[in-house]
Amino acid sequence: MNIFTIFGDPVAHSRSPLMHNTVFKALEIDACYTRTQLSDGAKLRDVFFAKALSGANVTVPHKETAYTQCDEVRGIAQEIGTVNTLILENDRLIGYNTDADGFIAAIQSFGQLSTALIIGAGGTAKALAIALQHHAITPTILNRSSGRLEYFKEKGFEAYDWETFTPRSFDLIINTTSAGLTDNHLPIPIELLTALLATSKGAIDVIYGKETPFLAEVKKVKLPYKDGSDMLLEQGVIANALFLKSTVSAQQIRPIMKRSFLY
Ligand code: NDP
Repeated sequence: MNIFTIFGDPVAHSRSPLMHNTVFKALEIDACYTRTQLSDGAKLRDVFFAKALSGANVTVPHKETAYTQCDEVRGIAQEIGTVNTLILENDRLIGYNTDADGFIAAIQSFGQLSTALIIGAGGTAKALAIALQHHAITPTILNRSSGRLEYFKEKGFEAYDWETFTPRSFDLIINTTSAGLTDNHLPIPIELLTALLATSKGAIDVIYGKETPFLAEVKKVKLPYKDGSDMLLEQGVIANALFLKSTVSAQQIRPIMKRSFLY
């Protein structure tokens, strides 16, 4: 049996085991997906091999550490510097970032976009900024504090903190902060958000499974919006296809994995 897991801290809340096991069961694949609570990210590689895993996902806060522990990193993850999916290939650990492509798949429903404002400057913001740029959507970054902006400026993106930012029109407003996850905070001051929503075409929050204060404001002005569920699904579909060495297509996996969102 092939064993897969998700590494994270915390990891108890993760929907990934349900998502992947639903696919394995439906397709009668001899595989099992578990959770691994890991506080020391430096041990990730050793634990991966000790558990004789075939693959894994990586969540907060280990995506950057996981990147440094791979024998090879493929695709857009090389540019982003974080991985969320690990595959064992000929005894070598191969890293991928499926958050980036998962997000791009999730925003297709907004139609043609050419600009986006990313609120937040953490690991998810990095992945999304690079992914958007690859798809000819110009990202601008807006973060509470200036400390994390350097990465984005070095990549040639416009990046601001609350003090230096002046609202203007963006096609899509994206919340990648954890504001609203366990509290009722907005990711930016209400005056800024109101001005931004007045001229945008839509908004998305990467937090899933709840209406955040950010999405509640978007709803008030009747803009198209979505939470992070589609991104979660799409990154999982891409990861599952990698786990199954592309023997099953994303088109086959998607409707099955989607069923797990009903549980
Ligand atoms: P990080 O910890 O790397 O970054 C957090 C960012 O949020 C920082 O820019 C921080 O600003 C900002 N922030 C935190 N709290 C507040 C607040 N109260 N007000 C304003 N800004 C705030 O987190 P990640 O990028 O790894 O993850 C962010 C979110 O994305 C999480 O909620 C995670 O669950 C979600 N996620 C969802 C996925 C999906 O599939 N739907 C996939 C991946 C992530 P500062 O620099 O000032 O501290």
